[in-house]
Amino acid sequence: MATQTLDRTTTDATREIISYDPATGAEVGRAPIASAAEVARAVARAREAQAAWGALSFRARGRVVLRARELVLAELEEIAKLIAREAGKPVAEAIAMELVPTLDLMQFFARRTQRLLRPEKIDIGQYGLMGRSSRIVYRPLGVVGIISPWNFPWAIPVGEVVMALMAGNGVVLKPSELTPLVGLEIADVFKRAGVPEGLFSVVTGDGATGAALVEASVDKIMFTGSVATGKRVGVAAAERLMPCVLELGGKDPMLVLEDADVEAAARAAVWGAFANSGQACASVERCYVHERIAPGFSARVVELTQQLKQDAGTHAGADIGAMSSERQLQIVAAHVEDAVAHGARVLTGGQRTAGALAKGWFYEPTVLANVNHAMTIMREETFGPVLPLMTFKTEDEAIRLANDSIFGLTASVWTRDTGRGKALAEQIEAGTVMVNEVLYTHGIAQTPWGGMKQSGLGRTHGRAGLLELVAAQHIHVNRITLLPDLWWFNYTARAAALFRGLARRFTTGSVWPTSLLLPQMLRRWRERR
Ligand code: NAD
Repeated sequence: MATQTLDRTTTDATREIISYDPATGAEVGRAPIASAAEVARAVARAREAQAAWGALSFRARGRVVLRARELVLAELEEIAKLIAREAGKPVAEAIAMELVPTLDLMQFFARRTQRLLRPEKIDIGQYGLMGRSSRIVYRPLGVVGIISPWNFPWAIPVGEVVMALMAGNGVVLKPSELTPLVGLEIADVFKRAGVPEGLFSVVTGDGATGAALVEASVDKIMFTGSVATGKRVGVAAAERLMPCVLELGGKDPMLVLEDADVEAAARAAVWGAFANSGQACASVERCYVHERIAPGFSARVVELTQQLKQDAGTHAGADIGAMSSERQLQIVAAHVEDAVAHGARVLTGGQRTAGALAKGWFYEPTVLANVNHAMTIMREETFGPVLPLMTFKTEDEAIRLANDSIFGLTASVWTRDTGRGKALAEQIEAGTVMVNEVLYTHGIAQTPWGGMKQSGLGRTHGRAGLLELVAAQHIHVNRITLLPDLWWFNYTARAAALFRGLARRFTTGSVWPTSLLLPQMLRRWRERR
């Protein structure tokens, strides 16, 4: 590991990324760094192929996606192992959190996109009585650029690729520089499934390659990553007046009310905070517990945490693998050190893992108490295996604490009274709020995914996510062309009087007051003939 940079990624003169296993430091493989010219060529190829793809039926597109799904299923173990080696997570978790959700998403969008994008008739009220009709049709955008992070190197890009292809678009994907081989595997699967030549390509590379994709003439950028990079992407997209979806960071709160099922909540907190070594945008990063149940809850959380097995992701039985990069491990260590320096108590963990795992980027699953909102650990995204616990006395206080954040991705409320849970959920500023659940709804293809506040703009997944990948076009038809419209030229005195009448009566939206204008309308029509 001595020769590696902070990100385990070397971008030397050979224009190559070297991908390392974060658990061992062993090289996993290499991938090219695509230049801006190569990115532009990929976009041009996708644009050329898109015209024919966009003209295909949903069923024909779905057949290709379902073939890709069969390949993923047949190669499940190999793909999960590659994810584990590049990202550090346990193979079992790669299957549960990356492959199962995408297999489900693939069948859902392959079969349902046609229905989800069915043309819609719009009720245009009284205009309909004049022989007019309106409907919305959904057209492909053209070429969609996808820029993805390393924490779910398979599930995040595959979901977006499938949805963009099903919507009829060409796609160019730039995977994270920490997980380029998973990106290339995605390209390979879709190629073998029969995606037309050039329609979908993967350009591996670093931030400059991502920036080149934003600068290439794509029609939309789907970006997932940090707030800092998301802002840069947003600015670059705005310069081109190009729309973008930004799926950014989180600092997701979990509220455990006094009537919660303590055992379930404790287990959920431990999984929600430590799955993927805490490197999920929707990880539980702040846990607020009612003071009455706090002692029992925190004791159980500590007990469960100490039972977790930390090991290389490729070793059977591992619960928690390595963190994906040294940089991330350093952020986690700095947040914990800062919290401890300001009075936090470490209930378990609190340091880089020693012993046989010391050669990899492992951090002990950590539970902290005695934290407050002045500490970095409660304000900035930690993105690591740390669960800070804080107590509250009242519901109002819990909501105030949950909303005291620049982020708003997901949140959870734990209570035996689901009615109470739903009422509280609606007071929390987050794109998704779960009652008696944590973290997992990115895995439900049907539900929208996206944040409020600095957690991002726009949605992925569900119908809302699909609508981000099409242009909604309004088609308006006038079936009665016999008579000129009342509001066309010339603006005679009679016309002006009618317009005043329209302002008073037609705009009520009711037919009865409008019908009182009929004599005036007839006079106006006669005048226009
Ligand atoms: P990052 O912002 O460092 O990188 C994300 C991607 O952007 C990478 O592919 C990177 O190469 C590329 N990139 C870097 N600079 C760029 C530029 N100037 N222009 C265009 N692309 C550029 O994020 P990361 O460290 O890979 O991912 C972790 C972050 O992602 C966390 O903040 C996490 O919360 C967030 N995340 C959010 C979601 C969500 O759905 N909201 C999901 C997963 C991760």
